[in-house]
Amino acid sequence: MAASGDPTRPWPEEVAVVVVGSCMTDLVSLTSRLPKTGETIHGRKFFIGFGGKGANQCVQAARLGAKTSLVCKVGKDSFGNDYIENLKQNGISTEFTYQTNDAATGAASIIVNNEGQNIIVIVAGANLLLNTDDLKEAANVISRAKVMICQLEITPATSLEALTMAHSNGVKTLFNPAPAIADLDPQFYSLSDVFCCNESEAEILTGLMVGSPEDAGKAALILLQRGCHVVVITLGAAGCVTLSQKEPVPKHIPTETVKAVDTTGAGDSFVGALAFYLAYYPSLSFEEMLKRSNFIASVSVQTAGTQSSYPYKKDLPPTLF
Ligand code: ADP
Repeated sequence: MAASGDPTRPWPEEVAVVVVGSCMTDLVSLTSRLPKTGETIHGRKFFIGFGGKGANQCVQAARLGAKTSLVCKVGKDSFGNDYIENLKQNGISTEFTYQTNDAATGAASIIVNNEGQNIIVIVAGANLLLNTDDLKEAANVISRAKVMICQLEITPATSLEALTMAHSNGVKTLFNPAPAIADLDPQFYSLSDVFCCNESEAEILTGLMVGSPEDAGKAALILLQRGCHVVVITLGAAGCVTLSQKEPVPKHIPTETVKAVDTTGAGDSFVGALAFYLAYYPSLSFEEMLKRSNFIASVSVQTAGTQSSYPYKKDLPPTLF
């Protein structure tokens, strides 16, 4: 059931960026080494973080000042309640944040050793129960936003329906095919105004090795030929590469040189920022939007954590706005 009619609903204005995607609770244990099968070991620190690509991207867009709504599903459990509170604290509309008794809130159990190696188990749980009936209930917000973002942490059928709804209503679609699947339904390409993935996702989708901006340009061309209007491949510290139907020549957009502390969630910061610029600064050149998104994502890698590292508008240079 949607939390509609909620008196604490953050704002009455029009939603510009709608995200149809996932929420995951990260349960992180820091240990000196990874346990063997059947072994119990003591860790040195435990913390809970808010993650999930859908929520991460929505939080970054909201922190830049976007009016956002997150269409998602969490469990009717304490993690779900806490997640909804987190979204509200970020000023995100939770009108279409559904809660279900039929599955637990999505969770990622993460163990990280002193060398930074990890073991991760993700149980998507309630995320996989977000369905097309839920989208119909949220149709008003999906069909009237300026930009709709989705990823692949909910069922592909639900993501595809969200893209179809947005696309048929002239809403700009920003699709982030993560985590990537090799045999992606071809409709995902034709329904993507902007198709944005990272190097490893580009490799899975195209079968090409992507280790440089030149490689990324070749992979982007293959993705473009599958029917998207614009392709962006992010390259970590090397920034990103883009090309479009209008300008099918790859362009490399480098980013700032910074001291990276924790790059987890950098791609989601980038996608959230790009959605913000597409929605609020449509007259900027696309290259300029990417430069600014690079900058914002480069800020996020300089602090530990995922959402906790995402910058707010007030902490960024005014020239970005
Ligand atoms: P993902 O988090 O999906 O693996 P990337 O690693 O490609 O995505 O990072 C996304 C964006 O974050 C990059 O395009 C860049 O703008 C920024 N970024 C990531 N790592 C760094 C880094 N070490 N230094 C500066 N910017 C970075």
